[in-house]
Amino acid sequence: MLDLQHIRSQFPILNQQVNGKPLVYLDNAATSQKPLSVLTTLEKYYTEINANVHRGIHTLSQLATTEMELARQKIQKFINAKNDYEVIFTKGTTEGINLVAYALGNSNWVKKDDEIIISYLEHHSNIVPWQMLCERTGAKLRVIPMDENGVLQIDVLDEWLSEKTKIVSVNQVSNALGVINPIEEIIKKVRKNSSAYILIDGAQSVVHFEIDVQKMDCDFFVFSGHKIYAPMGTGILYGKEEVLEKLQPFHGGGEMISICTFEKTTYAGLPFKFEAGTPNVGGNIALGAAIDFMNKIGILNIQKHENELLEYGQKKLLEIDGLKIYGEKAKRTGVISFNLEGIGIASDVGMILDKLGIAVRTGHHCTQPIMNFFNIAGTVRASFAVYNTFEEVDVLVEGVRKAQKMLS
Ligand code: PMP
Repeated sequence: MLDLQHIRSQFPILNQQVNGKPLVYLDNAATSQKPLSVLTTLEKYYTEINANVHRGIHTLSQLATTEMELARQKIQKFINAKNDYEVIFTKGTTEGINLVAYALGNSNWVKKDDEIIISYLEHHSNIVPWQMLCERTGAKLRVIPMDENGVLQIDVLDEWLSEKTKIVSVNQVSNALGVINPIEEIIKKVRKNSSAYILIDGAQSVVHFEIDVQKMDCDFFVFSGHKIYAPMGTGILYGKEEVLEKLQPFHGGGEMISICTFEKTTYAGLPFKFEAGTPNVGGNIALGAAIDFMNKIGILNIQKHENELLEYGQKKLLEIDGLKIYGEKAKRTGVISFNLEGIGIASDVGMILDKLGIAVRTGHHCTQPIMNFFNIAGTVRASFAVYNTFEEVDVLVEGVRKAQKMLS
């Protein structure tokens, strides 16, 4: 059992009234709240250290560099990367995927008539960069279909995978439905039948699952700091050393060069080749503090608690007549995405919940193809974090009942 009182005491933002009611924050798949340890780390950086990294001889610059590199090592351990230089700081999942898409294009890895495979369950961030790469190169985008339960039909891969397949990019957990995708089987199939690279979008999984990128055997793994209790504007791209070594950089600028002349520039080694410009030093150090926070509780304890909340919430919500959960029968984590029969606009429900102090997300969740599949404009999405309680789930369920009464 988690000591929720102690955990919640580390999140002062939760202890407030919204619209005259105690805040019930259930929009964690969009962004999680930040514990005091993360906030004080940021404050300490800006009040005691603030200096640019890697290029200074002075004491503060060296301290900033040491702290940021220490954070890199914490992240390395957290996802079990083999080397710390395989961990690249980004500003989030979106930047990580764009970085890989551009770097693959710049390296001529993807050419005309090649194929890029994604899935139906992707966030726009894992669709659009690949469409843009297809436009630049003449490659073709293929999309693994799903069934009405939100389960990917991965058998198509047996037919689709070939030497033409250059990258397979899928998420581990869908942000819109919370469905857990069979990435182990996908990766096995890809390794067996092609020499494609594999990118796993871990934006929604790294906060719920123990991640081992070596065991997973992906080439790239990306996530955002702000969804794992760290500041916004932070994120990670993990890449396998031998793959990163082969790739051309994405952005050019300071930090990423070895020698720069007007005639020719040579690039720095890993990870700096992919970290052009001044990084978010304070944010990256605070990302390390967020990982300390999670490690202290233990990811398996976090996962257990969140799964219990999901199971309880799902059971209670399904007692409401006419409530449909999308992906109800699929293996899921962290998210309940639903609509009420006869109430076409999810945001109407969201607005009533907000009046009751309950924060949920409504709309298409940056996954318009999924909404089109179900022929809906959007859903109401409640998503859980380590600090949520069963009492909060009860408040949500009561709120949904009230919204149904008011809107029908
Ligand atoms: N992929 C998934 C699965 C996500 O949930 C999100 C954020 N909702 C993203 C990508 C994009 O993340 P960010 O906006 O932090 O770059």
